[in-house]
Amino acid sequence: MHEGVMQSWLNSSHLSANSMVYVEQMYELYLDDPTSVSDEWREIFDTLPKVEGVSVETKHSEIRDLFAQLAKTKDRTVVSVADQADEKQVKVLQLINAFRFRGHQNANLDPLGLWQREKVRELSLAHHELDDVDKTREFNLGSFAIGKDKMPLGELYEALKDTYCGPIGAEYMHITDTDEKRWIQQRLESIQSKPSFSLDVKKRILKGLIAVDGLEKYLGAKFPGAKRFSLEGGDSLVPMIKEIIHRAGEQGQKEVVVGMAHRGRLNVLVNVLGKKAGELFEEFGGKVDESLAAGDVKYHQGFSSDFATAGGNVHLALAFNPSHLEIVNPVVMGSVRARLDRRDCENGSKALAITVHGDSAIAGQGVVQETFNMSQTRAYKVGGTVRIVVNNQVGFTTSLQEDARSTEYCTDIAKMVQAPIFHVNSDDPEAVALVAQLAVDYRNTFRRDVVIDLVCYRRHGHNEADEPNATQPLMYQKIKKHPVPRNLYIKRLVAEGSIQESDVTQLADDYRGILDKGECTVEEWRPMTEHSVDWRPFLNHDWDIEYNKAISVEKLNELGEKITQYPAEHTLHSRVKKQYDERRKMLAGEKPLDWGFAETLAYAALCDDGHDIRITGQDSGRGTFFHRHAVLHNQVDASTYIPLQHLHKEQGKFEIFDAVLSEVGVLAFEYGYATAEPESLVIWEAQFGDFANVAQVVIDQFISSGEQKWGRLCGLTMLLPHGYEGQGPEHSSARMERFLQLCADHNMQVCVPSTPAQVFNMIRRQQIRPMRRPLIVMTPKSLLRHPLAVSTMEELAEGTYHNVIDEIDEINPANVKRVVFCSGKVYYDLLDQRRKAEQDDVAIVRVEQLYPFPHAEMDAVVEKYKHVTDFVWCQEEPQNQGAWYCSQHHFWNSIPAKANLTYAGRKASASPAVGYASVHAKEQQALVNDALTIK
Ligand code: AMP
Repeated sequence: MHEGVMQSWLNSSHLSANSMVYVEQMYELYLDDPTSVSDEWREIFDTLPKVEGVSVETKHSEIRDLFAQLAKTKDRTVVSVADQADEKQVKVLQLINAFRFRGHQNANLDPLGLWQREKVRELSLAHHELDDVDKTREFNLGSFAIGKDKMPLGELYEALKDTYCGPIGAEYMHITDTDEKRWIQQRLESIQSKPSFSLDVKKRILKGLIAVDGLEKYLGAKFPGAKRFSLEGGDSLVPMIKEIIHRAGEQGQKEVVVGMAHRGRLNVLVNVLGKKAGELFEEFGGKVDESLAAGDVKYHQGFSSDFATAGGNVHLALAFNPSHLEIVNPVVMGSVRARLDRRDCENGSKALAITVHGDSAIAGQGVVQETFNMSQTRAYKVGGTVRIVVNNQVGFTTSLQEDARSTEYCTDIAKMVQAPIFHVNSDDPEAVALVAQLAVDYRNTFRRDVVIDLVCYRRHGHNEADEPNATQPLMYQKIKKHPVPRNLYIKRLVAEGSIQESDVTQLADDYRGILDKGECTVEEWRPMTEHSVDWRPFLNHDWDIEYNKAISVEKLNELGEKITQYPAEHTLHSRVKKQYDERRKMLAGEKPLDWGFAETLAYAALCDDGHDIRITGQDSGRGTFFHRHAVLHNQVDASTYIPLQHLHKEQGKFEIFDAVLSEVGVLAFEYGYATAEPESLVIWEAQFGDFANVAQVVIDQFISSGEQKWGRLCGLTMLLPHGYEGQGPEHSSARMERFLQLCADHNMQVCVPSTPAQVFNMIRRQQIRPMRRPLIVMTPKSLLRHPLAVSTMEELAEGTYHNVIDEIDEINPANVKRVVFCSGKVYYDLLDQRRKAEQDDVAIVRVEQLYPFPHAEMDAVVEKYKHVTDFVWCQEEPQNQGAWYCSQHHFWNSIPAKANLTYAGRKASASPAVGYASVHAKEQQALVNDALTIK
């Protein structure tokens, strides 16, 4: 086969005009980068057989052997010894390639000129054995996209330096897709990376720089010493973001969500989002937002507005941000995904995520990697994020090259998804604007992440009260003398005759005038119109608000029928089929309902009423414990079928995705989704509850406190498998105590449902009730199949989630001498043991919602036992963990005044559980006996 292809190839007129060596070298170039050779050559090389699973090197040598073999048999004129001209031509192509690969390493990126980078040898003519004589010779340009086929080497060399070693360092040759590489080459090489902007655009850029500088100086003078995390040194960020929004709007984007940490945030709030300067000044003056339980510092605040572009208004949202630097990125992506889903837009063309990173943080924090990994997956893709690094070359006081990272650039992590990276010198605001446009165009063409590394500096310390010279003396000596970006650009525009000095004075005065009046400084700002989500119905409700619970047994049966159907040709695995068959028996009343079916029915009932549902989590489609099977896998052709998507045409959307193996990134994403979409039930499920540990920052800084800090409601549900089953220190506990410790102000709900009917009604309640607050659920593992953890259809249809469940056996309250309070799986151990011991003087009361504590329901139950003086809280968790740790004051408040409350459970422990099943079993029996006073 090889031979046939090669034969016709050698016979082609192409080869007959060239030498063997020449072809080999061309082929080598092609293997390195298919875009480096001309279209004609690429077409020929593309026809060569590909060897599956064999590395490029082997492929190459194989082809070389073929060349050699054929050379022996072919006409000498065809495969003659290479002439010098051909060799030089190849060197020229290699030179072009070298610039494409490594030009960025000698680009002029550092405004301070402090980077000490070695000269890249491959970028010199000498390295390629080219000399001054060759400079005058014309060479074929291969695929160099300058719009000509040939050029003298001298001119080409200058063009290459301009394109790849000017203020833009384009790093993109790690991309394997040829079309993408060619696209970037076309965009940069055709203009040698030099934009030619209209006077209007130049003025827009200039105004942006004047605004940045104007605001910072104004704040510095008006509020000396106050922290503002000034943008000075990275001034181009503001015109850059505005350029991105303009470009995105022109290309049809309707919403842009921005995430950024504190550096430059006040400037972006005022000069991009259009927050009124006066409002910011009031915050500096100490204004308190009385509507918030806690509030937050001004450089964490978000904002929403509309922004006029040539393509129409774009809605802007700056996400609220805690101090934990990179964590907002997945939140922003989640928010964008919610907006895209709302607009039924799968390709990302209607909403754009922009994330602004710090140079130390993007390299240092693992969540960045998680978001890159999520960026193209079904559950998390948003059509690409434009990621900007404000690279001020220092992390607080930490020097970057030596201490902050082990990579050449802070952006190297982006290569894992082959994102192009445009490093740009922030002192050249036109190069910055070009890169901004390029980034948007790339993202909108290829729907993938793109990175802009804005190489700048930080004029002051980490904050304005900080002394940067103490740790970065040389850098700050340089910065002190370095002109501000605004002045550099003015000089350039005046020199080229684009503006007059007097125009600038006027612009600066105008800007200052607006600040003096405390008004909005952004010309493009527009009030929010026709915003697509209305949060008003969800405001100001507490957890116990009444809601419409109605659902009939008939309806449930009808839904049950639908969700146990699947196409006849869809062949299920025998174990899955068995579960579906059993569900049909549950429908027929032949078996009591189990957990998996009740949960699925809850989703069906919601979707049937038009509610959308999004569930993501590790192995959620099937369920960690083989209990859900929302996604049915055909054993014949691996196709999938989701019965919950086939209820009826008008049903709500049901989406369920297996998550990437991440917790912090995906939980933050789902938080972002849920805070942008009150109409959907958003659920994140941990494989085991303790996996949530890895996402603790999201729980602490967003889920438990976002409403109190920022007024942002969030109806996210977290399903966390929890229960002591002898599986060791991990996978026993979802660390309930940590959630309970975070509970205050009715900020979230912590529930421990213990029956299928309870999970059904809890899920429905979370969505139907117009309150949007996080719901943390301790979900069961062994209870999924426990013979006592079953319900009837009537119990489901009753519609109520019981926050407290009284004794279920026929025990006369008057005879009760001891009341055991408990939550979760231990209830069944207690029930079982009490039945065995035939105790009729002990009542067991389940607390199914630990927070907000259901005082009224608890009081109603305890009323029956008001004569009892002996109450006990029983838990499986160690004493310093579980509900006892944080909720015992509620239990104390619930019991009669003269009664006593004791603890039955594991002793305090550093570890959540013991590592030995036998020890676990002994402990479990002991705590149950203790609770029931069985000796
Ligand atoms: P956004 O689309 O995020 O810019 O939000 C637009 C407006 O909706 C905001 O200004 C808020 O008034 C309101 N809003 C957005 N998200 C929430 C939320 N999670 N909770 C309450 N109100 C919200």
